[in-house]
Amino acid sequence: MKWGSVALLALCLIVVFYMTRDDEPLPGDRPDTASVINVYGFDVGQGDSTLIQTKNDTVLIDGGNNGKGDDIVRYLKTLGITRLTAVIATHPDADHIGGLDTILDALPVDQVYAPRVNHTTETYRDFLLAVKKQGVTIKTAKSGVVIPIEAVRLKLLAPLRDGTSDLNSWSAVVQLIHQDNSFLFMGDAPIRTEQDLLESGMDLRADVLKIGHHGADTSSSIPFLQAVHPSRALISAGKGNAYGHPRPTVMNALAAESITVDRTDRMGTIQYMSNGQTIQVKSRTDLRPE
Ligand SMILES: [Zn+2]
Repeated sequence: MKWGSVALLALCLIVVFYMTRDDEPLPGDRPDTASVINVYGFDVGQGDSTLIQTKNDTVLIDGGNNGKGDDIVRYLKTLGITRLTAVIATHPDADHIGGLDTILDALPVDQVYAPRVNHTTETYRDFLLAVKKQGVTIKTAKSGVVIPIEAVRLKLLAPLRDGTSDLNSWSAVVQLIHQDNSFLFMGDAPIRTEQDLLESGMDLRADVLKIGHHGADTSSSIPFLQAVHPSRALISAGKGNAYGHPRPTVMNALAAESITVDRTDRMGTIQYMSNGQTIQVKSRTDLRPE
């Protein structure tokens, strides 16, 4: 009888324990760490640098301006990254490739992707030289290229054709799909590219849209925003930049489409943590320029 009571009490305690356990975490909280990926919109002032980090793979899209390479190398070290699976140079403008030579000199990189367009600046030559020192050959960034990394689908959607003398029109556009979540990174792709993408019939929907060209009004047309239909927009721009990025036209369009805006000029480095179903967003004050 006594042992029966003890057994009953133990059973009750177990039941109470299970009932009071916090089994309903907040969305994105306590996810299965094996399936979590992070996307970082790095604070590089006026320029672009975005990182995709899965458990074993890391992909860097652009490396900010000349002089930002050291900051990015420090960010990568803070995140425990000692090797890059791939680097994507969206196009040869200095605010995207300027820091890549410093990064390539500091970390081993397995693959480098860039659009097939030549540029004659010293910055571009520095980038090519750093790639050569790594002993890798640049793979062409163009629509249809799949970058093989674990746990996600990473695909280039653009360029769909050769660009013009405007280097932005060569921008690689990168689609990242992690289970139910998706991201679209536009580089500096102009409306011409947006039209190409719309005409291609590809599924452009994304939860997070990395806005083209730092929020300039040469990108982010209304039909494109409606096709992507993101809930959040990431804008990489420098505080008080001379171009007035992001432009009021773009900010108004984003507001009209009820898209929440995350700006590096206001929030610093922005982290998106995806567990495949939900995305948590936070500002990383520890990853800031020196
Ligand atoms: Zn740019």
